[in-house]
Amino acid sequence: MLMKQSTKDKFIKFKDYLLDIIYPRHIKCIFCGEELDNRSLHDTCTSCLHSLPFITRACTKCGSALSENNTGVCANCKANNFDFDNAKSVFEYRDEVVVLVHKYKYSSMKYLAEAMAGFMCDILSTWDIEPDIITSVPLHKNREKDRRYNQSKLIAINIADKFKLPYVDLCEKIVDNPSQTTLDVMDRKSNVKDAYKALLDKKENIKNKTILVIDDIYTTGSTSSEIARILKNAKADKVYILTFAHGFGDNVR
Ligand SMILES: [Zn+2]
Ligand SMILES: [Zn+2]
Repeated sequence: MLMKQSTKDKFIKFKDYLLDIIYPRHIKCIFCGEELDNRSLHDTCTSCLHSLPFITRACTKCGSALSENNTGVCANCKANNFDFDNAKSVFEYRDEVVVLVHKYKYSSMKYLAEAMAGFMCDILSTWDIEPDIITSVPLHKNREKDRRYNQSKLIAINIADKFKLPYVDLCEKIVDNPSQTTLDVMDRKSNVKDAYKALLDKKENIKNKTILVIDDIYTTGSTSSEIARILKNAKADKVYILTFAHGFGDNVR
């Protein structure tokens, strides 16, 4: 058993090594593949930085992109009472951002986590919150086995490292239900209900703490809200959500 595990680990390391050769980090733009100059921000070329759908006018509750005449809360937040305190995202989930997230999630391009976390750190450094702990939205263990890693956790660890904050797994996914992406809004809500559980042995890491939860995409808010609900049931003080991209908003719908 041990022998098997170490051979597998070696193989994974070798595969990462090969991926580094095929897709060398810090050399090509993570979005368009153009060669980078030395001063590129988060491995992204200047042209992409100018054209990417950064969220500049955001819903004050969930961070979705608002149209010009809307300055408050989006329609989705007006219709729902989400349990998290506040959520923010870097990008609208469209165009090149979708391509990048797919590459990251389904092509084992783990090295992208560092640059994606970099963009999220920029948001965190201007956000008026003081998290005690960083955590991520867990995958069910069967799914994590298929993917070999939890993509949100990898980003979260990068962010925690940069801010010198502890990363701790605080919850687990107990139901291996269908992926949210195939469901409509109502189904997504029932799909996540009771799908997660706070880890009993992490109570001290949750109680009275300000927790920042990291995920790759904010879709309808139902997953973020459910995670916040179980953490608050376990006596968390505040729960904030930071995602790379936001799938709701005036431009996305
Ligand atoms: Zn580019
Ligand atoms: Zn909103």
